[in-house]
Amino acid sequence: MRNPPYPNLLSPLDLGFTTLRNRVVMGSMHTGLEDRARDTDRLAAYFAERARGGVGLIITGGYAPNRTGWLLPFAAEMLSSSDARRHRRITRAVHDEGGKILLQILHAGRYAYHPMSVSASSIKAPINPFRPRRLRDVEGTIGDFVRCAVLAREAGYDGVEIMGSEGYLLNQFLAPRTNKRTDGWGGSPEKRRRLPVEIVRRTRESVGADFIICYRMSMADYVEDGQSWDEITALATEIEAAGATLINTGIGWHEARVPTIVTSVPNSAFVDISNSVAGLVSIPVVASNRINMPQACEEILAEGHVQLVSMARPLLSDPEWVNKALADAADEINTCIACNQACLDHAFVHKTVSCLLNPRAGHETKLVLEPPRRVKRVAVVGAGPAGLSAAVTAAERGHAVTLFEAGTSIGGQFDLARRIPGKEEFTETIRYYTRMLDKHGVDVRLGTRAEVGALTGFDEVVLATGVTPRMPDIPGIDHPMVLSYADALLGAPVGESVAVVGAGGIGFDVSEFLVTDQSPTLNLKEWKAEWGAGDPQEARGGLLTPIPVKPARQVYLLQRTTGPQGRRLGKTTGWVHRASLKAKGVEQLSGVNYERIDDDGLHISFGSKHAHARTLAVDNVIICAGQDSVRELESALRENGIEPHVIGGAAVAAELDAKRAIRQGTELAARL
Ligand code: FAD
Ligand code: NAP
Ligand code: SF4
Repeated sequence: MRNPPYPNLLSPLDLGFTTLRNRVVMGSMHTGLEDRARDTDRLAAYFAERARGGVGLIITGGYAPNRTGWLLPFAAEMLSSSDARRHRRITRAVHDEGGKILLQILHAGRYAYHPMSVSASSIKAPINPFRPRRLRDVEGTIGDFVRCAVLAREAGYDGVEIMGSEGYLLNQFLAPRTNKRTDGWGGSPEKRRRLPVEIVRRTRESVGADFIICYRMSMADYVEDGQSWDEITALATEIEAAGATLINTGIGWHEARVPTIVTSVPNSAFVDISNSVAGLVSIPVVASNRINMPQACEEILAEGHVQLVSMARPLLSDPEWVNKALADAADEINTCIACNQACLDHAFVHKTVSCLLNPRAGHETKLVLEPPRRVKRVAVVGAGPAGLSAAVTAAERGHAVTLFEAGTSIGGQFDLARRIPGKEEFTETIRYYTRMLDKHGVDVRLGTRAEVGALTGFDEVVLATGVTPRMPDIPGIDHPMVLSYADALLGAPVGESVAVVGAGGIGFDVSEFLVTDQSPTLNLKEWKAEWGAGDPQEARGGLLTPIPVKPARQVYLLQRTTGPQGRRLGKTTGWVHRASLKAKGVEQLSGVNYERIDDDGLHISFGSKHAHARTLAVDNVIICAGQDSVRELESALRENGIEPHVIGGAAVAAELDAKRAIRQGTELAARL
């Protein structure tokens, strides 16, 4: 072991009246468990697991200081002493594990999804149907923030985070985009700043000196008429003077058209902005966004500007993240791949937040992994996400596991996913499983197509044989220009002009693969130029005109269904995929009939009358028309008296994703 590993990351931080045990902050993330009193113990278990995993400072999801500030009707709030008493179960659970925890105070402003919403001015957000009222009782709102902080102290919290970024109420007061007031709270940058600064000042007066006040500051709004750099720097110094202990980084409003956290955002993309703010103040600044591994944190902290690093999703995917860093075992970290599929996408549809890679997240009290009553011999067939999660979980519990994989490497379809530009980080998942198979002593048989004979004699057989690309019944489907998505992603030569049949998740991904020059890995400068993510020091709101990247080839993306494409893509990621393909000139055609494929290309027509016949003179047709389950082994096993457990794509191919595959593998292995 290096001695000591990650010396900056793992060193304590003395805040004067209290000390954080290391520099890892678990950033605020709304899980849905905050909204119902009956889920308090689940929430406590969720935080306690992260505190036990070594996190220095945890920040809760957002709690409204009053009812106009609710994110949703009856959403999380901290309004009374009885709320505070209930929260003692959370703070005690975290303190018992040696952690510290802040309550985040969040007033949603015009992002509130209910008719009582208020904002600096009555201007509707483009992402919310409710028009806010102009906030009249500004003084009362300040009082509500202060009362919320006092109650947090009563509840045993070590401090509060005042949410001033992401386009919520305080950010709405700060930006000319949303604050058109001419009273004491608008009309000039100084007056627009008054609300957050007064909240921090009066909170400090009320809670005393020995209570953490973290202010989450929008350092780049990435919306038109956002804050200028002068305004941001003035805010930082005034927030410090008003009594804040820490300044946390916020990047981009929810309505911004610059992606800030999805997989395709390069790692540590916004740290330079946090570094600049850190140069303006003497209190510690926290860096955030797309930071997920200890080495990256160490490098950020070693530069000597920011003093803490915030991660939210990486601690969902691996609650033991800090302990693994302490043990110099970063290769055992289950790295968050920023897919948003089980965290933010769940939050948007009001489902409990969890993690694609770690289905226990948010379900710590329900999905419990215990040693088995009897150690069994378990055979798992298929090393895709379903088989990998089943094999590793069963072995971790103590079973003797043999994993059969027909291919020469593990990963299944996920091994194709990692070849998509912007999804390179999916490779970390394969690295994690490779390490875990080894650590837990799984007998891995690569290049071994399992047959019935090899599966006799096991106590349990798990069929995780996954899916195979579906080849639709189009005349000419056997033409040499036709490739499956697997062929294309595995390196089959592809011409200058391509038709992609099927516009589901894989059709979008394959189109991205085809229009992207394959040589480089992500380049931060080019990525920022592509999305118009400028330097907030140079442009108000940080916005620049996007400079599209030249597509590597002409791509047509086709679907039979009418209407816009990509409607079933992830709630928080779909817009990024759609915008990316649009910027790269992908021609999207819906309501298509596939007439035939021949030497001239792909012949299509539109609608039930097969009108507007058109020939796409393409070099290749790539099929992304869904998948079929692979489960031939199932009946053969049954005939031989073996009752297999069928999971993942082998069970149901429709609407399969890695989230379902991993969850089924984990849940099954927890029961074996
Ligand atoms: P598979 O991944 O199909 O794995 C099955 C494994 O079983 C294979 O390795 C196969 O070789 C092996 N096998 C089959 N028969 C035998 C046998 N008889 N003996 C031994 N081994 C056998 N999902 C997401 O959630 N998010 C994404 O962003 C995402 N992006 C994707 C992008 C692309 C380009 C692709 C292709 C897929 C993507 N997916 C994504 C889908 C995801 O990869 C699949 O849902 C997931 O891999 C299914 O897991 P599985 O284990 O059920 O099956
Ligand atoms: P999919 O989303 O079901 O899309 C299949 C596409 O093929 C549809 O556009 C469908 O559209 C078309 N199609 C189906 N049958 C056809 C036929 N017989 N002939 C011609 N076209 C046909 O499946 P997928 O794209 O293969 O993705 C598989 C799973 O992987 C998805 O469910 C998804 O969850 C997951 N995935 C997720 C992501 C992500 O970013 N989250 C990325 C990739 C994959 P029409 O019927 O309209 O033609
Ligand atoms: Fe990270 Fe995806 Fe898990 Fe969310 S669901 S924590 S983005 S890996």
